[in-house]
Amino acid sequence: MFENNLTDCKCCRLHASAKTVGVNYRGAENPHIMFVGIGPGPEEDEHGINFYGRTGRLLEDCISKAGVRQEYCAWDNVVKCFPNDSGQIRNPSKEERWSCAPYLFRNIEKHDPKVIIPLGNIALFALTGLKGITKYRGQRFIRRIGSKDRVIVPSFHPASALRGQAGNKDFITQDILHAWRIANAHPSQPPSLFPPS
Ligand code: SF4
Repeated sequence: MFENNLTDCKCCRLHASAKTVGVNYRGAENPHIMFVGIGPGPEEDEHGINFYGRTGRLLEDCISKAGVRQEYCAWDNVVKCFPNDSGQIRNPSKEERWSCAPYLFRNIEKHDPKVIIPLGNIALFALTGLKGITKYRGQRFIRRIGSKDRVIVPSFHPASALRGQAGNKDFITQDILHAWRIANAHPSQPPSLFPPS
């Protein structure tokens, strides 16, 4: 069970080492594109703001290059406290992801994004149950989340472009442009089916 007040959450052990408990959704009230990453990093934990650090700045650069305005976007994560061991960033465990996912789904329901972009494998799996971001990035899926079907266009996590895979920045930019076109497409345009064949 999760807390109504996110900053009071103690549903998993991540709250104990976080400077900011519950680094939450930020961005447009009803975004065209909602990005979903893994969790806050050290800079986000320090400032309590999603995608505040280098990764966020790289993603903002991709958004600009795709010709999309930031005010149409929103940012959130699978877990809302900095996943770390003694200050060293790590991926959240399965239990931590399960504990925190209801907050993400609540935000999706509340803000009703036109397209969701999971960034990297952990967010891809949390939103679709699929594994393999390299295989699935740039494709369009439909998944029921909350009260309605959601359009999902996976992409690489921007941190990968900072860790030696610089070419991923171009793929992320392409995927944002693809998501933007879907978000602004005529509603009669048929979506692809989920799961993929
Ligand atoms: S990561 Fe999520 S579930 Fe865990 S304590 Fe923080 S807000 Fe609660």
